[in-house]
Amino acid sequence: MRVVFVGPPGAGKGTQAENIVRDYGLFHLSTGDALRAAVKAQTPIGLEADKYMKAGALVPDEVVIGVVVERLDEATSGCLLDGFPRTIAQAEALDKILAEKNAPLDVVLELAVPEDELFRRLASRGRADDNPDVIKQRLVAYHEQTEPLVGYYSKSGILRKIDGLGSVEDIYDRIRAVLDEYK
Ligand code: ADP
Repeated sequence: MRVVFVGPPGAGKGTQAENIVRDYGLFHLSTGDALRAAVKAQTPIGLEADKYMKAGALVPDEVVIGVVVERLDEATSGCLLDGFPRTIAQAEALDKILAEKNAPLDVVLELAVPEDELFRRLASRGRADDNPDVIKQRLVAYHEQTEPLVGYYSKSGILRKIDGLGSVEDIYDRIRAVLDEYK
């Protein structure tokens, strides 16, 4: 099963992704985690990505696509892509990569959370890019660059919207109900 997880920063994708990969045996590819690891290790990709991440902007498509291509080969028994794609160009690149492998996406989960709740969650999390100005920028980047993916994937008929309000357990129950249709 190949799953994409989209949703604004602070929607809770990381938390739910951990549950999903554990229970469904999927390879977890979080571009945010991968980029943070590259920043920490000060690799050339990390040094490049750091500038954008600090400002709440998206890292350039070619950098992120490179990170994904490198790791997708490990995903032989299915994958959960978390934080990728984040732009239409990334989505098109992903479709192409998966078409070559004869392994198209099964489902795209959109985790939906209202903006005021996102602010509240992000402000209490305390990661380096969780200060108010950077949070605002990340939400702008989401609306301008990532939200169009909702239209992109509804057109291909694989988008499923999940209500992201409530307890972690309640939200995970909703996710499971959808994923179990694709097992
Ligand atoms: P969030 O909690 O905002 O969803 P992530 O951990 O997924 O955070 O990503 C943190 C930052 O890493 C983003 O603000 C962006 O700068 C960068 N990033 C992660 N994934 C991508 C991507 N697919 N394309 C461009 N930039 C990305």
